[in-house]
Amino acid sequence: MVCKNCKNNPVINLPNSNINLCKGCFLKYAERKAYKTITKYKMFGPEDKTIAVGVSGGKDSFSLLYFMNKIAEKKKLLKLKVVSVDEGIKCYRDLKHVKEYCKENKIEIHVYSFKTEFGMTLDDMVKKTGLNPCSICGVLRRFLLNSKSRELKANKIVTGHNLDDEAQSILMNQFRGGLERSARLGPVTGIVTDNRFVRRVKPFYFLTEKEMTAYCFLKKLPVDYGECPYAKSSYRGEVRDLLNDFTAKHKETKHALINSFLSILPLLKKEYAKVEIKGCKKCGEPCSGEICKVCDFIKSLKGIS
Ligand code: SF4
Ligand code: ZN
Ligand code: ZN
Repeated sequence: MVCKNCKNNPVINLPNSNINLCKGCFLKYAERKAYKTITKYKMFGPEDKTIAVGVSGGKDSFSLLYFMNKIAEKKKLLKLKVVSVDEGIKCYRDLKHVKEYCKENKIEIHVYSFKTEFGMTLDDMVKKTGLNPCSICGVLRRFLLNSKSRELKANKIVTGHNLDDEAQSILMNQFRGGLERSARLGPVTGIVTDNRFVRRVKPFYFLTEKEMTAYCFLKKLPVDYGECPYAKSSYRGEVRDLLNDFTAKHKETKHALINSFLSILPLLKKEYAKVEIKGCKKCGEPCSGEICKVCDFIKSLKGIS
């Protein structure tokens, strides 16, 4: 077995195409794929002077930070602002390496914690409400990422979502009847153009979980590969296992799911663009009702003694 391109020793097999690549060729392949995604989906334009990078410190977002920094070093006018969220999950979230990396590379970093922003850690919210941790976490994190990036005057948010994350989200929405949520997915998220929404873009959209793990490992990025303690029992965790089991038998599954989804996504976006966007009466953030989900949740939290 040798690298398909240069005959060196391979470090990875890409199961979907059954290609073996050596370290150098794989890193080039991964970055080229991300650049192609940026170009194809016109992720950045001349108006994008300040870009927020959502970084949790995991392998995908750390790789994203490294990759975006490479772009920013070439395009001197592009300013990156790292936005990190500390949910307050005991023995898990640790932003030490992210902060060090930002300091070494002179990148602005802003950390927002659930405790400061909402008055309580995620662990305490879960104890108090008995609700599913990921449902709370997802809503609050999205809220902070959007509102804080806007405050920081970023007109795009880059996130490290990979092909596996997206395939899981598509299936989860199908299983739960959430087509409107799927309409917001894609390499460039969102349905409507509204100044209060900062557009989210995903350069690693076509790279798999396995490829991102290999990229991060081969680049020797200082990442803790441990999983969130809530992940195993989450709905996403169940869908991930199901999808991985199925893909082990039918290797084209995840790529086929993404490609067929992308072919119907323009129709979904068109269908759900009709939803009227209002402003939350409490916090002003965009939402479809009178009060946004976050304000509603915080109110119910205060109501529980
Ligand atoms: Fe939040 Fe759930 Fe992800 Fe943990 S697994 S970081 S609780 S969304
Ligand atoms: Zn090679
Ligand atoms: Zn609100």
